[in-house]
Amino acid sequence: MPPNRDHLSENSPLLRPHQHSADSDDESDPHIYRTPRQPNLKNRTIIWSTLTLIFIFALVFVLCFQHLLSDAALPWVGTLPRDPMLAAFAILKVAPVIDGHIDLPILIRTKYANNVTAVPLQSRTPGHVDIPRLRQGRVGGFFWSVYVTCPENQKEDKDDFTEASWRVRDTLEQIDVARSLISKYPDTFQLAVSSDAVVSSITNGKIASLLGVEGGHQLGNSIAVLRQYHALGVRYVTLTHTCHNAFADSSGNPVPLHNGLSPFGRRLIDEMNRLGVLVDLSHTSDETAIQALNHSKAPVIWSHSSARAIHDVPRNVPDDILRLVGKGEGQKDGVVMVNFAPGFIAKPGNASVQAVADHVEHIARTAGRDHVGLGSDFDGIPGAPEGLEDVSKYPALVAELVRRGWNKYEVAGLTGSNVLRVLRGAEHVAKELQDAGTEPIYDLYKARRDIPRGSGI
Ligand SMILES: [Zn+2]
Repeated sequence: MPPNRDHLSENSPLLRPHQHSADSDDESDPHIYRTPRQPNLKNRTIIWSTLTLIFIFALVFVLCFQHLLSDAALPWVGTLPRDPMLAAFAILKVAPVIDGHIDLPILIRTKYANNVTAVPLQSRTPGHVDIPRLRQGRVGGFFWSVYVTCPENQKEDKDDFTEASWRVRDTLEQIDVARSLISKYPDTFQLAVSSDAVVSSITNGKIASLLGVEGGHQLGNSIAVLRQYHALGVRYVTLTHTCHNAFADSSGNPVPLHNGLSPFGRRLIDEMNRLGVLVDLSHTSDETAIQALNHSKAPVIWSHSSARAIHDVPRNVPDDILRLVGKGEGQKDGVVMVNFAPGFIAKPGNASVQAVADHVEHIARTAGRDHVGLGSDFDGIPGAPEGLEDVSKYPALVAELVRRGWNKYEVAGLTGSNVLRVLRGAEHVAKELQDAGTEPIYDLYKARRDIPRGSGI
């Protein structure tokens, strides 16, 4: 008799193959094992029935009596804690914030004369941003805005933007500041130049650091300069700041110059699409935004803009433009990343975490919850809303949205996955264009007189 035969059962499907194997003698002498098997079968039935009952009881308990479980136990059964702030931290643990616009480099220029060695980011800074508060706020990544001012008025830059300026130099200095600070704290920051790099930085416990140039006026009217910014890691360019430029009209000047994009601005977008640099429509005029949405082959962003229907200022996005954002017919994928600047959020004295949540919800209602993100503008705004005073406070906003019924997937979209999807979309378009052999654009700005054209060698 082979050993251990008494545990075999023809009722167990796991053992059926053995019953038909060539060396099996079950069928040749089935009676040998029947008598001792029956009480064993009975025991097993009792054990399995008990286990099944315990399982059903536990399931019913978890489903029906969750309110009896403590907040600490709920995540273990896949449920968010009931306390909205604890729920916010639970979501942010797996879906940290990727902010579309943080102005730390311009603060380093104005407060530290760009001397990165003098910047103590590991202790509390006078601004909205430092490493302890970024960690407290569950920040997984952000676009370091690289910004230099517009000309004081249009006259300074002539009418055709050909007045020589130091803005390309100054932009390079701010890129240097951002990259130097990222290198100075390698345990905290990691330069990220792609959506995959953002994900791997976050997975490694680092804060993914992306770069964005805040205004076409910083390009020196040159598409070649765009290419070099891209080579340095820049992944969005805001088409305008508060001034019109050679490429596009701004919301900061109510008198239009190009009535939206100039022909050269369309060429700029073509090259941004080819490179995978996101088109950022914050600060642009409504006409610029509509034309850019139509012209761009790639998804677009508003790196730091809120909803005009909630607070009526030109810097916010109106509903007719929000309705052009989406994945349907006649729409373009994009993400509107809500700005926290009190002046863009509410009447004086009324900017609060609830008011910011109102903007988030309005954009979500109008464009969809897949099309809203966070673009605080910290360190670029004079004050901050009550309850959202600095980068440590994002969990308060998430808690407010949880309180309003947002589920964890919707919150994760808001905090980061929507902007990641859009960045991935732009990378996809760039790859397609490059794979199709699309040439770089070497068009010169028409008002330039410094390079003779068309003569050849
Ligand atoms: Zn701005």
